[in-house]
Amino acid sequence: MSRTTWRTHRCGALRAEHVGQWVRLGGWVHRRRDLGGIVFLDLRDRDGLVQVAFGPGWSPPDVLVAAGALGSETVVVVEGQIVVRPASARNPEMATGDVEVHATALVVVGPAETPPIPVARGKTDELPAEELRLKHRHLDLRRPELLANLILRHRLMQRARRTLSELEFLEVETPILTKPTPEGARDYLVPSRLHPGEFYALPQSPQIYKQLLMVAGFDRYFQIARCFRDEDLRYDRQPEFTQIDLEASFVGTEDVYGFVEAVLVALWDEAGHAIERPFPRITWREAMERYGTDKPDLRYEFPIADWTAQVQLLGVPFIEQALRDEARVRGIAVKGGGALSRKDVDQLAEAAKQVGGSGLAWAKRLGDHISGSVAKHFTAEGLGALGVGDGDAALMVVGPDRVTSPVLDRVRMEVIRRLAPAPTRAHAFAWVVDFPLFEPDHETGTPVFAHHPFTSPHPDDVVRLESDPFSCRALHYDAVYNGNELGSGSIRITDPAIQRKVFAHLGLAPGEIEARFGFLLAALQAGTPPHGGFAIGFDRVAMLLAGAGSLRDVIAFPKTTAARALFEGAPAPASPADIAALHIEVK
Ligand code: ASP
Repeated sequence: MSRTTWRTHRCGALRAEHVGQWVRLGGWVHRRRDLGGIVFLDLRDRDGLVQVAFGPGWSPPDVLVAAGALGSETVVVVEGQIVVRPASARNPEMATGDVEVHATALVVVGPAETPPIPVARGKTDELPAEELRLKHRHLDLRRPELLANLILRHRLMQRARRTLSELEFLEVETPILTKPTPEGARDYLVPSRLHPGEFYALPQSPQIYKQLLMVAGFDRYFQIARCFRDEDLRYDRQPEFTQIDLEASFVGTEDVYGFVEAVLVALWDEAGHAIERPFPRITWREAMERYGTDKPDLRYEFPIADWTAQVQLLGVPFIEQALRDEARVRGIAVKGGGALSRKDVDQLAEAAKQVGGSGLAWAKRLGDHISGSVAKHFTAEGLGALGVGDGDAALMVVGPDRVTSPVLDRVRMEVIRRLAPAPTRAHAFAWVVDFPLFEPDHETGTPVFAHHPFTSPHPDDVVRLESDPFSCRALHYDAVYNGNELGSGSIRITDPAIQRKVFAHLGLAPGEIEARFGFLLAALQAGTPPHGGFAIGFDRVAMLLAGAGSLRDVIAFPKTTAARALFEGAPAPASPADIAALHIEVK
């Protein structure tokens, strides 16, 4: 199948069964070694490396001379015979290591300048700086690790398509030049040349379109969709990213969980992992209470507990002072936490500060001896009542949940990193359900949407939409895996009156609602089935399954954390003429 006009085989595919065959190969000069009149090349292509030997016994003199002059990364076509390597020269680390090619002809078809970053590396060689690698991405992509990641990504994508297609989902493409879809980020705007002063937005997600497809009666839709969000970038975000986006009609939450689990099980299977379904469920409230986060890493124990009542009895002055308003004492009984050194605890406190905490109170119990910042207030018995046994430690903070939850989440994960306990299982999937519909805005405290404004309020809570919005739950669910959010979804609002109310909560005036979402509201009045869906963050799944350290390692041409494409150089200034044609001005 790999045979073409130029070659008979791929380099990396040659094996002992090919011995005696004449072959023609095309590939990149990975390494060259000259050994006493014999020239060895490691020739590389997508399938891997093969050794090509040029020697006086079988290569014409001009070919031998030309081989000796080849620079690395030159593209050559070689012809020759596959021979078995002598036992002493076999290389068990190379898939083709039992054979080599005795070359009789050589043509340079793609000369190469000296590469600015090396492609061939020794096992212990460090990678060049990432910025340099992103700048020369065509060379970086020659690295077998990146190639393997992108091959896995391809397989995952095909598997997702196949799985959803078998579940009767129709793959439909939705527009890239569109109207803003609120998903909580800024829009990328594209000025219109034909309509002065008007703009397209790039989709933050296909959300509205997929709902319109449900109104249209498509019943089940999916798309491997590119989404664009102009956010301040964090280490694990890209301004454009890929979702496995799906939507289905006449469904409730259980149906959606079933579809998404089927896809995730298939993807993990594709990467060689058997996982079990159904996934366990945890409510958002419980996740926040026990783990301080809505994406808990459930491979490990160390739950957070409320110690307010017990600690209050001890009369610790600084805790008493802090226990005002909605403050609570929350802590973690760390099994084996006696092993944490003073330095460890200082660093935990430092980590707590980074996420807005003011400190960390701690006590360690070794036999009858109690040490730590709040040691004098505790007896062994008192600690025992908190679940802190001999050899364990208590870590605690006091404050309102909005402060203590992120702190304890961070402390818990740091403790797990330091103590490295055995995980209870390798793959901890879960559904986080019953999210609140609104969360308070970071700065103003006013209600903003926890997911997106198309998410249906929980039917039991809808009566409190206006009177007590923060107490309303949503039919919104996330899938989490080992402390990562894999995606989100919800059952949607189908009643235009409720949809209008929810937009009003966003602070939109009636006229604005019509201008921005009138088309959706009109569609909802045209006969809308109950529907819901989900979007899986595909880049993140590929990263986790590839065991890669960054999303950039599973995207062929990623952006930097500053949203720049270093290779092609984007964004870039536009010519004054182009800018004028778009009826805009650069300030
Ligand atoms: N559109 C949502 C998102 O991008 C997913 C969904 O609700 O289906 O997160």
